[in-house]
Amino acid sequence: MKELIIASHNKNKIDEIRTMLSSKIALRSLKDIGFDKDIEETAKSLEGNADIKANHIYNMYKTSVFADDSGLEVDALNGAPGVHSARYAGEAKNNEQNIQKLLDQLKAYENRKAQFRTVISLIWDNKLTHFEGIVRGSIVFTKKGKGGFGYDPLFVPEGYHNTFAELPSSLKNKISHRGLAVTKMIRFLNSVH
Ligand code: IMP
Repeated sequence: MKELIIASHNKNKIDEIRTMLSSKIALRSLKDIGFDKDIEETAKSLEGNADIKANHIYNMYKTSVFADDSGLEVDALNGAPGVHSARYAGEAKNNEQNIQKLLDQLKAYENRKAQFRTVISLIWDNKLTHFEGIVRGSIVFTKKGKGGFGYDPLFVPEGYHNTFAELPSSLKNKISHRGLAVTKMIRFLNSVH
């Protein structure tokens, strides 16, 4: 059986991906392999940060690995907060402050279009491959809903009338940036062995 490490500490993410993978691949979390540190994300792009995390683990363990990085990219703000999504309002990574800052920044613009984007870096058989998932939508004027995390209360995906924080998580996982990128990677993995 082939091993694949997921360079994440997020248990929900790990469980969800495990159920999607072929039974011929054994998914190991960072906890399973005894890695309990945070890897610093110092790159200027989602791709760069996903590469840093995947390469860090690969260089230590020489085992197939993948890492993901996501962000909210707002059209009127030229793609901000983007790679800085978690720290938009400062190092405290405070969700409420991030949301408030985004609403303040957008006051000057009519265009509220935005997208969530995920990039996955997979190192499989010593080769690096990227998978991208994008969900387009728009930013509402006041936050709505209690579910999800991050900017979910502000984001209405195209074709829906509710924010990600109001929609059931099963639906969000199916149509989200992360869900789309993971599905592409799973399709690749299930086809190469
Ligand atoms: P991460 O790379 O998945 O840790 O995402 C980085 C940051 O982007 C998060 O801290 C959130 O602020 C934002 N973000 C990413 N994905 C989502 C999402 O699905 N909903 C809301 N915010 C998100």
